[in-house]
Amino acid sequence: MAASDERIGEDSAMRASGPAVVIHAGAGPLSDELLERESDVQAALLDALRRARAGLEAGAAAEEGALAAVVAMEDFPLFNAGRGSALCADGSVQMSASVMRGRDRGAGAVAGLRRAINPILGAREVMLSEQVLLVGEAADEWLAERGLEQLANGDFVTERQLVRLRVGAEADRGTVGAVCLDRGGNLAAATSTGGISGQPVGRVGDSPLLGAGTWADRRVAVSCTGDGEAFIRAGVARQIAALVECGVGLAEASERALGEVAARGGMGGLIALDACGRWCAPFTTAAMPRGAWRSGGEAQVHVRDVRALT
Ligand code: ASP
Repeated sequence: MAASDERIGEDSAMRASGPAVVIHAGAGPLSDELLERESDVQAALLDALRRARAGLEAGAAAEEGALAAVVAMEDFPLFNAGRGSALCADGSVQMSASVMRGRDRGAGAVAGLRRAINPILGAREVMLSEQVLLVGEAADEWLAERGLEQLANGDFVTERQLVRLRVGAEADRGTVGAVCLDRGGNLAAATSTGGISGQPVGRVGDSPLLGAGTWADRRVAVSCTGDGEAFIRAGVARQIAALVECGVGLAEASERALGEVAARGGMGGLIALDACGRWCAPFTTAAMPRGAWRSGGEAQVHVRDVRALT
């Protein structure tokens, strides 16, 4: 496996660092489009970091920071979430998202939404309710009753995704995620996706499944991206938390979990952040646009990664 070479953040002192945010915009190939639009992608990542940072510096809770970053990325049409989502085999859009708060394990998720402009805000609504996961048309209805902004399914279909569906674009990616640490030392994670281009209607990947694609507790917050079925089978996000609980370092725990994904024939990446502000962002694909900011430092983003896959 091409294990992570991403160690940014690992050199930090082993103490609480103040607010921090780490984001990703999907693990996948280093496509021509990603290279051509590199500056737009960088700007979108910086904007997402900026919005999360503004909230966290003003004292917002970790989940609000993560939600702000994910909303910003859902609104950027080159990412596979919200408008710009990958298309199912029948040309329609299905979106899934989840959010988890580490402090008390408050959690909300939605799967198979067809109308929500910002599915992550749907996940937030669920987090505020008694439920944890709502799916499909009933979930869209439930969210409409609560005033979540919606569009007709056809309005989510972009020309770019139609072309990708037609040509069977290689492993279409662009799922987005954020992990945050707030001033109070609390963690949260959020993930949002349109799934995989050409997926059968009704397929659900790892992104809305807590423990697979998203997890947050008092020690660690994780958001994943990649071959959803392999991430579900490996139970990636919760596995990292369990390893960290047993004393394994964050980077090693993340690499081990990606090893489990590889053992199940999958590729992908993740972002993980702990309560001391240490973070890592390993991936086994050719690229994973990502960014991070920590209190007292500058925001940094990475789009282009040329690395040998072994
Ligand atoms: N993990 C997502 C899914 O399987 C896709 C991705 O991250 O690119 O739906």
